[in-house]
Amino acid sequence: SPPADPPYLQGLNEPQRDAVLTTEGPVLVLAGAGTGKTAALTRRLAHLLWTRKAYPSEILSVTFTNKAAREMRERVGQLVGDVVEGMPWLGTFHAIGAKMLRRHAELVGLHSNFTILDTDDQLRLLKQLIQAEELDEKRWPARQLGGLIDSWKNKGLTPDMLDAGDNESYANGRGQHMYALYQERLKALNACDFGDLLLHMLTILRTHREVLEQYQQRFRYIMVDEYQDTNSVQYLWLRLLAQERKNICCVGDDDQSIYSWRGAQVENILKFEKDFPGAKVIRLEQNYRSTPHILGAASGVIAQNSGRLGKTLWTELDAGEKVRVIGVWDGPEEARRVGDEIERGQRDGKSLDDFAILVRAQHQTREFEDRFIAIGLPYRIVGGFRFYERAEIRDALAYLRVVAQPADDLAFERIVNTPKRGLGDKAVAKVHQLARREGVPLTTAAARILDTDELTPQARRSLGNLAGDFARWRAMGEELPHPELARQILDESGYTAMWQADRSAEAAGRLENLNELVRAMEEYETLGAFLEHVSLVMDNDANAEEAKVTIMTIHAAKGLEFDTAFLVGWEEGVFPSQRALDEGGQASLEEERRLAYVAITRARRVAVILHAANRRIYGQWTSSIPSRFVGELPGEHHEAETTMSGGESLWRANWSERSDPFADVSRGTGRGPGWQRAAGVDLKNPGGGYTKRSFNREPARVLESKASAVSFGAKP
Ligand code: ATP
Ligand code: MG
Repeated sequence: SPPADPPYLQGLNEPQRDAVLTTEGPVLVLAGAGTGKTAALTRRLAHLLWTRKAYPSEILSVTFTNKAAREMRERVGQLVGDVVEGMPWLGTFHAIGAKMLRRHAELVGLHSNFTILDTDDQLRLLKQLIQAEELDEKRWPARQLGGLIDSWKNKGLTPDMLDAGDNESYANGRGQHMYALYQERLKALNACDFGDLLLHMLTILRTHREVLEQYQQRFRYIMVDEYQDTNSVQYLWLRLLAQERKNICCVGDDDQSIYSWRGAQVENILKFEKDFPGAKVIRLEQNYRSTPHILGAASGVIAQNSGRLGKTLWTELDAGEKVRVIGVWDGPEEARRVGDEIERGQRDGKSLDDFAILVRAQHQTREFEDRFIAIGLPYRIVGGFRFYERAEIRDALAYLRVVAQPADDLAFERIVNTPKRGLGDKAVAKVHQLARREGVPLTTAAARILDTDELTPQARRSLGNLAGDFARWRAMGEELPHPELARQILDESGYTAMWQADRSAEAAGRLENLNELVRAMEEYETLGAFLEHVSLVMDNDANAEEAKVTIMTIHAAKGLEFDTAFLVGWEEGVFPSQRALDEGGQASLEEERRLAYVAITRARRVAVILHAANRRIYGQWTSSIPSRFVGELPGEHHEAETTMSGGESLWRANWSERSDPFADVSRGTGRGPGWQRAAGVDLKNPGGGYTKRSFNREPARVLESKASAVSFGAKP
C-alpha cells in the first residue's frame, strides 16, 4: 500500500493538493472566499520545508497583516516542527521591505539604523516644508500632499519619474517639487516613511544588478496571500524578485478586492498570467467555511457586479439557518438586539470569541461599545482604537473636561494649542511654571499669567482668547443642553474647522466620529453624567485572555472567520457608504458590493444582517432605507424578520420605485413630512429638545404610514 500522506497533505482536496505540490513555476490560485486558499498556502510552505526543497531563509511568504503572519508561522510549526523559527522572510510587505532595506540602506543614501516615520511625523515634516516654501497651508494642507505622495509611492514612482500631468493637483503643479524636497529631507534625517520601505527597495533592485541577483538566487520560492489587494509597487517588486526562478505562487479572489482606495490593483491578477506566461491557474471551488445559505446569500449579492472573473462555489456543510435580516427601529435598538442575540448564543453554549460585529465605518462601533459596557459584555476592537480612545474624541473630550472640571490639567494641556493658535512650547512652559509656583491648576494659571509680562504679545493674545472662550462656554453650559454646548465648543474653538480643512480621506471619518460623540451625549442627562460614563468606559480594559466579542470594520475582517457574524447598519448612506453614493460611479458601488461579499462570507454558521429605520445624522433623526444589498439577497437564502410590521414591505416599496440600481439614492429619499412627525421629529426644530427620547409609541403604524406614503409596487 502507498505510504501515508505527510500531515500537511491530509484532508486536502484535489485542487488544493495540486496547489501545494506544484512547487515549480508560476501558480495562480484564484478562488472564492473560504475555499482554503490561505490553508493551501500554509500547507505549501510546510511541504517546501518538509521535503527540504528550500531552507526556511530561502522562502519569501507575504501575508496581509502581521497577525496573519503569526498564524501562518504557528500553523506551519504544528505541521513540520520548529524549523519555522528561522523564517526571516515571512511577514507583510512592509515588514519584509524594512528588513531588506536595513541591509542595503546606504544604496539610497540612508544608514542601516534609519527611523521609520509614522503618519504624524510625516505630516509634521510636510508642514515644515510647506511653510518653508511659503505655500498657503490652508489651501494646500499637508495631508493632501501626504496623500498624493503616498499614492505616487504606491505606484512605484520616485520624484524624477513623474510626468507633468501627475502633479497638477497640488499647489499649481508644485507637487513633484514638494515630493523631491520631502525625500531629500527624509534622507537628511536618516528616515523613511512606510511607502519608502517598498519604493526604496524597488529602486535598489532596479539599479543594482548584484543586489537583485542576490535576492533572485536566494528566494527559491515566493508566495503571496490576498494577492487581489497588492498595489503597483508591490507587484513590480514581486515581479523583479520572481523573474529569474519563476517559482511564485499567488492566491487571491477578485471579488474580495477592497483596497483600491489605497492603490490596490485587482488588475494584478490579469497581469500575472501575462508576465508569467504558462502560469498554472488553479481554481478551488469547495467552500469549507460557510453553510449553503450563507454562501448562497453572498453569491447572490456579488453576482450583481460586472466584469468578474467568475467562480463556482459549493459546500458539503448542512444547510443551517437562513441569513436573518432584522429591521429595527433605530441605532440603540440595533445595539440592544445584537447584545440580546449574543447573550442568547452564550446560553446555547457559544463562546464570546465566536461572535463578530462587522461595521462599514469606524464611528459605528460606538453604539455597540456603549451597549456592551452597559450590560457587561466583554468586547475587543480589532484594527483600530476603541471609540473613546481615538485622537479626535480625546481632543473633544478634553475641551469638555476643561469646561466641566477646570482643574483638569491633562485635558487643558491636550488642547491648549489644538488647533494651532500660536501657543508654543515656551508659552505653555511659562504657564506651567506659574501653576507650580502658585499651586493652582493650569486654567487658573493661564488666566493669571495674562496680568504679567511673561508672554510674547502674540501668545498673550491667544491665551487671553482661549481663557475668554472657556469662561463663555462655562456660562453657556448653564443654559444650553450639553450636546448643543459641545457642538458650539467644537465650532468656536476651530476644532471642527481644523478637520474640515483637512482633505485627507481619514478626516471625514474623524468628523463622523465627532458627530457620533455629540449623538452619544444626547443619551445622558448632564455633561457630568456623560463624562462619568466615558471614564468608566476608558477603564474597561479587560484582560487579554478572556473571551470577547470582536467589533471591527469589514476591511479589517478580511481573511478571518467567525461562527456568527452580525452585519450591522445595512442602510443606504451607511452601507453602501454616502461617499460611494456621492461619487456615483459604478466602480465605487461595486467596491462596496465586494465589501458586502467579504462581510457575509466571514460567517461560518450564522449571519445576521441588521438595518435601522431611523438614524440620527448630524443631530437630526432621519429615516433610512435598507441597503440595496439587502434587496439583492436571494429570497431562498434569507428570511426577513422585523421588530415592526412593515419592515419587509418597506424596502420592497422603496426598491420597486427604482429600476436603475445606480440611481442616486441619497439619505432620506422618499421621506415625507408626515413620516417625520410620526417619528417624533419636530420639524421646526429637528435637532432640538435634547431630552432622552422614547420611541415606544406604536412603531408599527408609523412604519406603515411611511411605506404607504411611498406606495407599494411590484416586487423587485
Ligand atoms: P478567504 O478568501 O476568506 O481568505 P480562504 O480561501 O483563505 O478564505 P481559508 O481561511 O484558508 O480560506 O479556509 C477557510 C476554512 O476552511 C478554514 O477554517 C480552514 O481551516 C477550512 N479548510 C480549508 N481547507 C480545508 C479542507 N481541505 N478540509 C477541511 N477544512 C478546510
Ligand atoms: Mg484567506
